[in-house]
This record gives sequence, structure tokens and C-alpha cells, in this order.
Amino acid sequence: MLSRMMPDAHEALKDLRRQLHAYPELSGQEVGTATCLREFLLPCQPTRLLERIGGHGLAVVFAAPNGAPGPTVVLRAELDALPITETATPPHASRNPGVGHLCGHDGHMAALCGVALRRRERPLVRGRLVLLFQPAEETGQGARQVAEDPRWQDLAVDHCYAIHNLPGYPLGQVLVREGPFTAGSVGLIVRLQGRTAHAAYPEQGLSPALAMSRLVTGLVQMPTTVATESDLALVTIVHAQLGDVAFGTSPGRAEIMATVRADREETLTALRERAAAIAREEAARDGLACELEWVEEFPVTANDDLAVTVVRSAAGARGLACAEPDESPFRWSEDFGWLIRDCTGALIGLGSGVDQPVLHAPDFDFPDELIPLAGQLYDGILTELGLLPPT
Ligand SMILES: [Zn+2]
Repeated sequence: MLSRMMPDAHEALKDLRRQLHAYPELSGQEVGTATCLREFLLPCQPTRLLERIGGHGLAVVFAAPNGAPGPTVVLRAELDALPITETATPPHASRNPGVGHLCGHDGHMAALCGVALRRRERPLVRGRLVLLFQPAEETGQGARQVAEDPRWQDLAVDHCYAIHNLPGYPLGQVLVREGPFTAGSVGLIVRLQGRTAHAAYPEQGLSPALAMSRLVTGLVQMPTTVATESDLALVTIVHAQLGDVAFGTSPGRAEIMATVRADREETLTALRERAAAIAREEAARDGLACELEWVEEFPVTANDDLAVTVVRSAAGARGLACAEPDESPFRWSEDFGWLIRDCTGALIGLGSGVDQPVLHAPDFDFPDELIPLAGQLYDGILTELGLLPPT
């Protein structure tokens, strides 16, 4: 386990990041990660610790020691790793087979712990700071579960910010934009039920093969038929299965999975309604039973104008270059949008190097040099919002 208060804060944070990287945990299973963070953060003497928030989440509250009133500001990192085998072989490579911190959440957690470490020497002058270590980001469940927790609602959050590292951009470049920053998405599972028969007498059964084929085509072509002003309206077939591998059997069931994605909530809703209608129509045409399930729902994460201004000022004051991301918005999804539905906030990209492997690549490893840069940006935001005195 980690030694608590190392003389060199950066070394302590680097060690913490590598420790977290070595023991990654999947969404909804982040027990060890939460315990590790709790032990690291307790010596920072937070005002309150909210454990098991939204699952295995942890919220660490620091109030201004003088009790001066002010806004409640949340900074958020994610606890979970991915079900992908790490192929890189650093000394801190994953010890958990088939699971890897390949999205950099280990680095995000370390950066947030740095914010806590610095509160001893530079305490808040007003308001409250909440460091939220959110579970289950990768499945789109964690932020929503946190937002629905009565303890979160009691916090009455005013502002909420999160940094996500972005490969392909220069190390430490701040990437931010007003409005939609990441797309909304939702997973659709369609189950078609017919009746199996001998493959020699398919007419005695009810095969979903043709309906499945029409449905795959219909879903992929659907975005072009939904009237929209969006720049992004996309359906991706991610999985399909018809019957079993049995050459003597005409199949009786099929399962099709697709991810629906858009840059506006209205478009996402229209795509969902159309997808459900197509599935029901195609099933009914062949007399099949049809069951729909929606999973892994991520809202569009749209940044607040004022919050973006705060980020740009904070970056400028710390000498961090600021730019707009290449994609508008990013096609990938983030569940952070659930956390800024009732407060102002922004999701911020922070370049993790032009040659860095892409997010979720099997050889991704968060660059340790980014930990202090993310920390500077967070401290800058707290300064802009008046929780920390100007430097
Ligand atoms: Zn991520």
C-alpha cells in the first residue's frame, strides 16, 4: 500500500497513479480503487467523506476553514477501467487479467488527489470543494446514479468540472468549447422470437433471418430518413446473432444490437423512436415477437458558456495553451452530462500527446507528466471561482 504523505507530492501522485493502473477494476466493481483513494485522501483531512455514492463512488468534501460562504464546486474523476487486455509492459502493467486502465482514468484520479494534497498548504478561502470519484463511467450508469443519490442533491452543487485526457493533441493543451462537447448515445437490443424447425423443413418454423436482415439495413440507413438539423446522427450495428451454429436447424430467434448516437437530445430522441418503430414493423411483417431493451444511456454533454470562460481564463493564467477540439462535438460519449443538468459546468479535454495511443487502445498508458498540468488547471478553475486566493 502507498505511504501516505511523501515529501514530494508529484512522486506520491505518480506512485498512486501507477498503483491504480496496476489494479484496474471494471465498472460497478471499483471496491479496491475506492479503498485505495480513501486511504490516500484521509490524511488530507477533508471536512466530509461520502462513501458508496452512486455505487462504489467517493465524494470528498473540503469546506473553507473560516466557514466563509461561497459556491459549491465539484471536480470529477472516474474510477473504472475497461474489459480490455493491456498489451504494453510497463512495471505497473495491469495485474488483473483482461482488465486495463486504457482510458486514463488512473491519471484523472491522481490529478484530483493532487488537488486534495495541496489544500493543506493553500486552503480554501470560501465555499466548498467536492472531489467526486465517480464509478461506472464506461457503462454510462455512474454519473446518473450519483446524480440520483439524495446526498448529491443535498450538496446543492453550483459548478461541476471534469478533465479528460485526449490523445492526438499536444501534451497539456486545453481543449474546450461552448455547447455540445461529446455526443449522446444509447444502446439498443432487439430480440426477435419465431420458432425453430428442421433445416430441411424451414416452412414448418418461423425464422427471423429475413426480418433480421431488413432490420440491420433499416437501422443503418435510418439516420438519413430522420429529419434533423444535426451534424451527427449515426446508428452503428455492434452485434447480431441468428439462431445457433447448427446446420440441421432453421433458427427461431435473433438478437441485434446497435448504438444510436447524436449531437442533440432531440435528434437522439427522434432516432430512438424511429429505431423502435422499424424493429416492431419488421417483426410484425413476419409474425415474429419483438422485444426491445435500451442500455448504456449517455446524454449529450453540453458545456455551459460561463463555465467555458472560466476554463479559458484559468488556462491562460497558468500559461496553458487553449484550443477548440477538431471534432464538433466528439462522436464518443461521456456520462458527465448527467452531473451538469442542474448546475453550470464543463467537460474539458487535456491533450495527452500527439503520439499517445488512442483512448481504449490496448497499449494506452496515461502520461505521468500530465498529472501536475491537470492539477494546475483545476487549481486555476478554483481560483477563478474565488475558492482559492489569486496567486
Ligand atoms: Zn474515459
